[in-house]
Amino acid sequence: MWIRSIPAPGSWGLRVRSALIVTVAVAVGLGVCVLALIAFLYRSLTASADDVAANRVREIAGQLRFDRPAELDRSLLATDRNLTVVQIIGAEDRIVGTSTDGPGDPLTALRPEPGRIVRNAGPVAADTGLRLTVAGVDGSGGRYTVVVAMNHDSIEDTIKLVLSMVGIGVPFVIAIAAGSTYLLVGRSLSSVETIRRRVEAITSADLTERVPVPEQHDEIAALARTMNEMLARIQSSHEAQSRFVGDASHELRSPLASMAAALEVGLARPELFDDTLARTTLMPEVERMRLLIDDLLLLARADERGLPHLATDVDLDDVVAAEVARQRGRSDTVEIIVQLEPVRTQGDSGQLSRAVRNLLDNAARYAATTVTVRLTQDADTARIEITDDGPGIPAEDRVHVFDRFFRLQRDRGRASGGTGLGLAIVAEIIAAHHGAVHFTDHRGGGAMVVITLPASP
Ligand code: ADP
Repeated sequence: MWIRSIPAPGSWGLRVRSALIVTVAVAVGLGVCVLALIAFLYRSLTASADDVAANRVREIAGQLRFDRPAELDRSLLATDRNLTVVQIIGAEDRIVGTSTDGPGDPLTALRPEPGRIVRNAGPVAADTGLRLTVAGVDGSGGRYTVVVAMNHDSIEDTIKLVLSMVGIGVPFVIAIAAGSTYLLVGRSLSSVETIRRRVEAITSADLTERVPVPEQHDEIAALARTMNEMLARIQSSHEAQSRFVGDASHELRSPLASMAAALEVGLARPELFDDTLARTTLMPEVERMRLLIDDLLLLARADERGLPHLATDVDLDDVVAAEVARQRGRSDTVEIIVQLEPVRTQGDSGQLSRAVRNLLDNAARYAATTVTVRLTQDADTARIEITDDGPGIPAEDRVHVFDRFFRLQRDRGRASGGTGLGLAIVAEIIAAHHGAVHFTDHRGGGAMVVITLPASP
């Protein structure tokens, strides 16, 4: 029954999963280290036991070359906790020398050639827990076999002791690693959870809210900062959008009001509703509204997915010449001076014409007498300069004139003025063509706008 209440591993929280991964990783790592340590310890303990036994065997063999077993130095037959038995076996398997309390029978049937030492010569007759070193000796009193037995159990005891200490220490280390991972991940997640809850509470009605940034300089603080930057961008684009909709409604209202007034006059006094009223009042307002709606649609589309445009070869000099001719046809009060080099770029000739037209319209509208248009190429950059001798644009407004619905203070009441979208559209078109546009200082006063575009070779 209780098994059902344990959630599936897929739904375990990050802290449980992290703690489990650390547990497994530390357990495997420590397990491998412990195995290596035990193997190394066993090898070095048995090797040093075999060395002790071999030394004793050599000493006894050395004396047996000159003395009989009975004349051996007693210390050579002495035992201790590790070296437990010494036997000297003579002819016919007789024990001719032994340590105190040594067994009466030979410990091994092995009889190595004289001069040969056999280390770890198992197996021992009974399971006595002994590790034998056996040597053959050609002594003064005949041929002998010297056997020295080391206590193998004491090696095993040492290994068991180390294992039991490791057995206590390893789970302790694993528990500390898993516990601290659980706590650490929990602490980091608590700030993530705070951020998540704050983001959840943020609605489009109040985009001024920001997520809390933790004090540590870690990835979560970086995430919170990035999120705040994103919120700031959303806020400013939301504000720009609202402003755009508000301004657009405002701009649409005035032609609509003029049309409504004209229609009201027509309804109240049908005799006044003639083609003059339609031509002089209604049609211009309809036209103004149509242009405004076209501009608004273009900008809305540009906001949505960037301004879509063709990418064909465009002769910029032809585009500029056509727009100049068009401008000359509209009015002859302003003189237009033209200097054009043949320059080619990639893009949408319709849109580039539109940008040049908007700038020329403005220049001609504000010029006192003259507009100058220059088209040049410098390395791989095409440069269009349109200069007029009008009132110019104050330096502090030169950036803002590209904002939507922006008009200089002095032009706000002007009936002749446009909608304030002309330069915003120019900026969108030029940006979509990977170019730049800006107003700059002009020696003779007046305004000078410069467009740069990548030129085709
Ligand atoms: P509009 O449709 O009002 O002309 P624009 O976006 O084309 O809108 O221009 C924005 C404002 O920049 C204009 O209202 C005007 O105040 C100013 N402006 C643009 N071009 C010139 C210029 N050549 N000389 C002086 N002022 C200019």
